[in-house]
Amino acid sequence: MTDKQGRLHVIAGCMSSGKTGELIRLLSRHQVIGDSIVIYKHSVDTRDGTKARSRLGTEREAIVVSDPAEIACTDCKVVAIEEAQFFGDGLVPVVRQLLNDGRLVYITGLNQDFRGEPFGVMPVIMALADEISMLTAICQRCHGVATRTQRLIDGKPASKDSPTVLVGGADYYEARCPDCHEVG
Ligand SMILES: [Zn+2]
Repeated sequence: MTDKQGRLHVIAGCMSSGKTGELIRLLSRHQVIGDSIVIYKHSVDTRDGTKARSRLGTEREAIVVSDPAEIACTDCKVVAIEEAQFFGDGLVPVVRQLLNDGRLVYITGLNQDFRGEPFGVMPVIMALADEISMLTAICQRCHGVATRTQRLIDGKPASKDSPTVLVGGADYYEARCPDCHEVG
């Protein structure tokens, strides 16, 4: 597409840290200058259907995919990928190819899982980044600075043996600071 290398900007943080809102803000700058933009989200993320929607109410249309290979075929200058932690290691070669093709890539994701461990492919994606925005939330228990994602099942901290990704379960999440974060 161009001789220039692309750039990777990762927007990481715990839940409720405003990652999608920040992504939409960053993309709006490209819209002003007429860059073509596409957003991909994983089919595991069933919130909001085919929209990437922020808590501020801003939203953009997204393409729902289940395999990173579906991201590779795009003609857009700006490629955004939401909730990268849901994609497997197959996301890494796809991102590298997008960068080799000169695209501007924006990726959001949870850097830690509910246990506070590095989440899936995110550590590698962050290591490849040219720029990282690390966002924080407010702890829903003590109102301090939250950097962790608390999983609650029936109101109790989830066991560390609980699956990393729960689909359609009775799980519930809160933003927590490291002091208030609990693993059962
Ligand atoms: Zn706290």
